[in-house]
Amino acid sequence: MRRMTARPANAHQARLLRLLRDGGPNSRAQLGDQVELSRSKLAVEVDRLLETGLVIADGLAASRGGRRSHNIRLAPQLRFLGVDIGATSVDVAVTNAELEILGHLNQPMDVREGPVAVFEQVLAMVAKLRATGVADGFDGAGVGVPGPVRFPDGVPVAPPIMPGWDGFPVREVLSQELGCPVMVDNDVNLMATGEQHAGVARSVRDFLCVKIGTGIGCGIVVSGEVHRGTTGSAGDIGHIQVEPDGRPCACGNRGCLEAHFSGAALARDAEAAALEGRSPELATRLAAAGTLTAVDVAAAATAGDGAALDLIREGGARTGQVIAGLVSFFNPGLVVIGGGVTGLGHTLLASIRTQVYRQSLPLATGNLPIVLGELGPVAGVIGAARLISDHLFSPA
Ligand SMILES: [Zn+2]
Repeated sequence: MRRMTARPANAHQARLLRLLRDGGPNSRAQLGDQVELSRSKLAVEVDRLLETGLVIADGLAASRGGRRSHNIRLAPQLRFLGVDIGATSVDVAVTNAELEILGHLNQPMDVREGPVAVFEQVLAMVAKLRATGVADGFDGAGVGVPGPVRFPDGVPVAPPIMPGWDGFPVREVLSQELGCPVMVDNDVNLMATGEQHAGVARSVRDFLCVKIGTGIGCGIVVSGEVHRGTTGSAGDIGHIQVEPDGRPCACGNRGCLEAHFSGAALARDAEAAALEGRSPELATRLAAAGTLTAVDVAAAATAGDGAALDLIREGGARTGQVIAGLVSFFNPGLVVIGGGVTGLGHTLLASIRTQVYRQSLPLATGNLPIVLGELGPVAGVIGAARLISDHLFSPA
């Protein structure tokens, strides 16, 4: 099948493509209401887009009096690939141009095996998805990695939990393998982008999205745009110190938030609680499985295990302590909590909220919702598809 070769020629066309992506098929009249173009100018731009094959005429639009016109929609054969590489698992999804998921796979994976092994697995997953018939190729791909990324070149930089990835040309290599343009970003930024596109942060202009997984990071959205910082490490809040002389962290410092509360820290503390006889529930689970994860802590807490509840409350309080500082500094309209540890649910959320409301100024928290993400494990892949579509639906 023919892949997308054209790009919008100007900002009007780019805006029209994004409106069709976010709102679905639409009539010329309704598109005209959303862009500041005269009827004749709009007709010229839509006709040009029809010529490129990026959009097609499809079905009759509702009449507004007078002659009925066709709806305009994005070409139905357009396909985007979203790849969300976590520390311990990877999600791969295929979307159409409206960023609806047509196929999705999740597999366990260890990011420490390095980029070559990880991309071998990702490409095998892509082949599996293609074999189901949802796509025979891609017009673009977005990729998230669990560490800082030098955004313009799509290269991870000194990621603490990703040995072997420093400087690896992810964008270039994948673009060659897939035969399409690729954009790379930090996984937390993509989660924020996903929640902004189709989740709980729709229509919020300024918000924070805190991802608590193996590590902890924060996506910062300012006036609708992800803020990446000078070197791409904005929001790396897992390495803010919460305990002077605290536990050693993978980054080389001590007392980082991530060393005290994250998926990895939680597993370690849960095992200690089990071995020291403080938690019968966790001890039973450890004996059965030989290891513990955040999922076990969540299950133990649900069963009313005191030690498990304490671990979650203490972790939530430490996270809330850091978020309170961010709220005072940034004055967001919303704080989204996401990532694997959200299985800890409302106990975690409650202790984060308590800490933030206690510690921040009332003016900043008066109307501040602190909520769990809505998209769960697909936030990252939707964000990835949105990232590459933003790139492709920009003037060439
Ligand atoms: Zn650290």
